[in-house]
Amino acid sequence: MMEKNQFRGHERLAYFHDKESGLKTFIAVHDTSLGPAAGGCRMWPYDNEMDALNDALRLSRGMSYKNAMAGLPLGGGKAVIMADAQTDKTEDLFKAFGRCVESLGGKYITAEDVGMTEQDMITIATETSHVAGLPHGDHASGDPSPFTAKGIYRGIQASVKYKLGKDNLEGLTVAVQGVGHVGMYLCEYLHKDGVNLIVSDIVQESLDQAVERFDAAIVLPDEILSVKADVLSPCALGAVINDETIPHLNVPIIAGGANNQLASDSHGVRLMDKDILFAPDYVINAGGIINVSGEATGDYDVNWVNEKVDNIYNTLIHIYERADAEDRPTNIVADEMAEEIIERAMQLKRAAV
Ligand code: NAD
Repeated sequence: MMEKNQFRGHERLAYFHDKESGLKTFIAVHDTSLGPAAGGCRMWPYDNEMDALNDALRLSRGMSYKNAMAGLPLGGGKAVIMADAQTDKTEDLFKAFGRCVESLGGKYITAEDVGMTEQDMITIATETSHVAGLPHGDHASGDPSPFTAKGIYRGIQASVKYKLGKDNLEGLTVAVQGVGHVGMYLCEYLHKDGVNLIVSDIVQESLDQAVERFDAAIVLPDEILSVKADVLSPCALGAVINDETIPHLNVPIIAGGANNQLASDSHGVRLMDKDILFAPDYVINAGGIINVSGEATGDYDVNWVNEKVDNIYNTLIHIYERADAEDRPTNIVADEMAEEIIERAMQLKRAAV
């Protein structure tokens, strides 16, 4: 195991290699000022250890920001397992990973991320109690997607209120890229409010469902980012807001659930220059982690979860107001607000010892 302190504020970095199972994993704990570091475990066939390390450091920092902005009593952490989710999964490997998590004594709480399934989390939970996002059990939180979708819905309401001055969504047009778990639930909320939906996906079955249930109009995957609408809601892939797509955007608002929608921070400036309001993705898509946190922090209470998810509306309004007052992009302002929350918690913690 190796430990370092000098990674842009990271508290701890652990590397484990379990020879018997073949497990190689980095667990990065970015900050625990607000509470134990929570963040998913990603399984990915990284080309080398440096790529895996960089991902763990970057993603754990992102989790600190996300948890802070969601008002959760959780810090940020992330684990990456260097393996191929299609070919390398074994029970021994997940049990070994569970022991690694356990050895951190609760500083890090793991959950599902890219390449991992609920079944994998159940195996991990046989070796550690520091797991959230389990499908069943006394305080299990279950599928996070409906909560993520609800948060995006509240975020779209906030963005429409702020940018278009409208109190309801009726008659507006929202373009949804990706009608998977999150996108489909989101369409349900929007349809109930009388929103006209334009959707795209690469799975015909999902498109058929969106047409049948929500009377959605369908466009091809390479058209969705340039359709004329009131809101574009990316709910499929990351990095969709980039040099190629920005010139073709035809919306005043981007508010969707996909992680890391901006190819780089500088694309937030480009959106601001085009007068497009961008809802920072880790703020608007926090419903899922809020739901998981209800489990990670003890007694799961759906009312507490719903209150926090609803509050995404207010958080976004604060970000927009500050971004406008300072004439700065919303993504940068959100990062700064998150850093301030963490810094305050850090000071309180220091003052208490
Ligand atoms: P998902 O895999 O269920 O849905 C993604 C959908 O996008 C699928 O239907 C897929 O076919 C479609 N898609 C893929 N490529 C596409 C393309 N080029 N054009 C149009 N559609 C395409 O995933 P999900 O759980 O709904 O998550 C969606 C996004 O939200 C991801 O970026 C995820 O990281 C993020 N997110 C999800 C949650 C959650 O609670 N599930 C929480 C936070 C963030």
